[in-house]
Amino acid sequence: FGRLKSGLAKSSSKLTSGLGDLFTKRKLDDEALEELEELLITADLGVATAARVTKHLAKTRFGQDVTSDEIKATLAEEITRILGPVARPLAIDPARKPHVVLVVGVNGSGKTTTIGKMAKTYKDAGLNVTLAAGDTFRAAAVEQLKVWGERTNCPVIARETGADAAGLAYDAVEQSRARGDDLLFIDTAGRLQNKADLMAELAKLVRSIKKVDETAPHDVLLVLDATVGQNAHSQVEIFKDMVAVSGLVLTKLDGTARGGVLVALAEKFGLPVHAIGVGEKVEDLRPFEADAFARSLVG
Ligand code: GDP
Repeated sequence: FGRLKSGLAKSSSKLTSGLGDLFTKRKLDDEALEELEELLITADLGVATAARVTKHLAKTRFGQDVTSDEIKATLAEEITRILGPVARPLAIDPARKPHVVLVVGVNGSGKTTTIGKMAKTYKDAGLNVTLAAGDTFRAAAVEQLKVWGERTNCPVIARETGADAAGLAYDAVEQSRARGDDLLFIDTAGRLQNKADLMAELAKLVRSIKKVDETAPHDVLLVLDATVGQNAHSQVEIFKDMVAVSGLVLTKLDGTARGGVLVALAEKFGLPVHAIGVGEKVEDLRPFEADAFARSLVG
């Protein structure tokens, strides 16, 4: 919780210094509500959330004197209400050998790092985990996954750069199944420069996974870099069109002032948020908890 709070310090200071300026002690009139709504939008909370919070305050406190602490408390409550339904850890089905998790997202969003961190979590919980280097385009991506494999003591299935990712995914599911693994993470390429190519590639990858296990992939995680702010919305739209995204992981919530975007995404898409990244190290993946996040964000 401490790390989450310090990670979100920039997001929260943006919000709270604004709130402090707005409400040292002030009557909640139309002008104050309008300024508050604008502040919430600037903090990336999204238009819908900003409207919802302001409406709630207008209904309960209009015309009264309010302090910034009271506004903060209401804000934290409303944010918790929005985040509660989406805060859900990844549910690994122990009957599946393996439970297959496909990990998608644009290059640099933190896919490989998130896989490494999750591998460690589940390995520590006693599960047999395998990693597949499905981003066959970038040698660095394959190397990076291998490093995570060594670090977490998980086997990595990889091929040479430029190899067919769908073929690799097929082999990975087959090998992992033969070993009786509990969990298989499949990394993917995320070159958004050519959406049609990426879409075709992901579709092919999913088809070849299904040739081995027609129920797989059991989860499709979309990894989003929180520092891109509102851009995260279009990334969700794009990937949802390409593949059956089942949940989100937001990374780089440390050191960004744009943590509010998670609230906007929750309100808009309602996709489960399985975990959040608050740093580059293996221990910097946190379960996503609505209340802790809301309180850290509001400060
Ligand atoms: P990929 O291209 O989607 O696989 O992204 P990577 O996993 O290679 O991550 C890109 C960069 O972001 C790397 O330098 C990571 O160390 C860094 N990164 C990933 N997650 C986080 C996070 O939660 N916080 C911070 N500060 N950096 C992160």
